[in-house]
Amino acid sequence: MTMNSSLYKRYFLERGIFQLLFKGNKVRCNVCVSSFRSFLPATISQSKSFVCSSCGSDDALRALWFYIKNEILGKKNKNKFLWFSPTSQIRKTLKRLDIDVSIPDAHYLPKLDNGGDKLQGGYFDVIVFSHELQYFEEDETILAELRRLLRTGGVVLIQTIVNPEMDRSYEQISTDDDRDRLRKYYEKGMRTMYGANFGKHLARAGFEVEAINYAERLGEGAITYYKLAQSYRNTIYKCKKP
Ligand SMILES: [Zn+2]
Repeated sequence: MTMNSSLYKRYFLERGIFQLLFKGNKVRCNVCVSSFRSFLPATISQSKSFVCSSCGSDDALRALWFYIKNEILGKKNKNKFLWFSPTSQIRKTLKRLDIDVSIPDAHYLPKLDNGGDKLQGGYFDVIVFSHELQYFEEDETILAELRRLLRTGGVVLIQTIVNPEMDRSYEQISTDDDRDRLRKYYEKGMRTMYGANFGKHLARAGFEVEAINYAERLGEGAITYYKLAQSYRNTIYKCKKP
């Protein structure tokens, strides 16, 4: 935890207030396994998604965690994890489940271009790269590095914002004009927004790609109870290294 103590206190105070405000059992977070009256709506959470007032999970993370728990954990040859920027709740849960997980430094990928140290290649069974890719201007180096880190047959699970109204990606988002054009799909700080050809784009980077809308597989009841509706942020691109 890098927060200083007054921020830390404020965080827990706000968290306590939110927990009180959202006390109830209409919706549930599968990441911290708690129930609430509702999730934090976009207006309060400064996010486009519905956020858990206890652990901060959003729709994309809840869908991803369902997928990982149901389809990956405990499966043969799926033991060595590399997880980019996990939330503190995810870190805690992985530790409790005794999962062999490496968590790279936040600057690992940005430093690659300047000849930074590299992790061991051909090693990981599963890499989790959720809502990271859109903050890079060029993804060629990033995708090549993810592929290098995987063992043959290993998978990287990618989530990002995929705008179904665009065929191709929109790169180098920088002006207000760009942001206006991307409207409801734009999120603060993003540099690239992907379009409907995202799967093909990943295939060109050397992966066997499967786009998984796991919320849909879980069904309407789960979509409402766990708030998983935003498929443009939730879809999991399972990219296998052949
Ligand atoms: Zn939660």
